[in-house]
Amino acid sequence: MNKYIHAGSPQFFAFNVWSIESAKAVMDAAAQTGCGLILQTSMKAYEQLDKEGFRTYVKDYGQKNDIKTYLHLDHCRKMEYIHEAVDLGWDSVMIDASEKPLCENIVITNEVIRTARQKGVLVEAEIGQIRGQEDDISSVKAGIAGMREIEEFLKNTDVDMLAAAIGTVHGLYKGAPDIHYDVIEQTAQITEIPFVVHGGTGLSDGELLRLLSYKNVKKINISTDVKLAYRRGIEESIRDGAMEPKGFDPLRVERRIHDSIQQMAAEKMELLKKGRTM
Ligand SMILES: [Zn+2]
Repeated sequence: MNKYIHAGSPQFFAFNVWSIESAKAVMDAAAQTGCGLILQTSMKAYEQLDKEGFRTYVKDYGQKNDIKTYLHLDHCRKMEYIHEAVDLGWDSVMIDASEKPLCENIVITNEVIRTARQKGVLVEAEIGQIRGQEDDISSVKAGIAGMREIEEFLKNTDVDMLAAAIGTVHGLYKGAPDIHYDVIEQTAQITEIPFVVHGGTGLSDGELLRLLSYKNVKKINISTDVKLAYRRGIEESIRDGAMEPKGFDPLRVERRIHDSIQQMAAEKMELLKKGRTM
């Protein structure tokens, strides 16, 4: 069983990607920094992928370049995709039943665990709703997870990673983030199960380092930053004339996008290394 995240495992950033190109850019950052990484897809991106081709590319490129790369299906609400990802060799899946009452969330999560365990695939579940936009799912409720809820959930599921709402949001922050670090700390007191932080975009290096200082935080998700880096690559291409009809150069545009994503991801990964020495 490839239990790549556990109480004693390294910490990871999980980057949302949507194509072989975006995956390669993040993997090149991992090769540059010597860090392992998680590549994850939203449900919508997953739908659009040539999944087998994507998996084969990621695994081959990782092996060839000695990059520890794990594939994760993020915020999944469809059982058929969970089954498929498990069969296709994804390393972990997230079942997002957080909008359901706790007891239902528990039942659905346990069903996913039963499916995933057979193939050694890890399961992440969510408690309390993480605000912001994720694909077409938007949540505006300020849903900080309560400790009673977390305890109840952990008592009734044997989940591999727990994403609890701590005040981080999907997408861009309006105003300063209000992170409830106490939820991470108190969760560490009752369980060794790895803690997942969603909504890593828009957090300062200081905030990310503080999150990484909690040793139970094993996965921090970065999605919007990847998209913003992609956009910067296009903007740079416009500025330097690579998008002009005369002299239009797709190769140069793709290079710029690639480098922009690689640079952003490498900067985050450097924080992992810094966090290890603190
Ligand atoms: Zn999320």
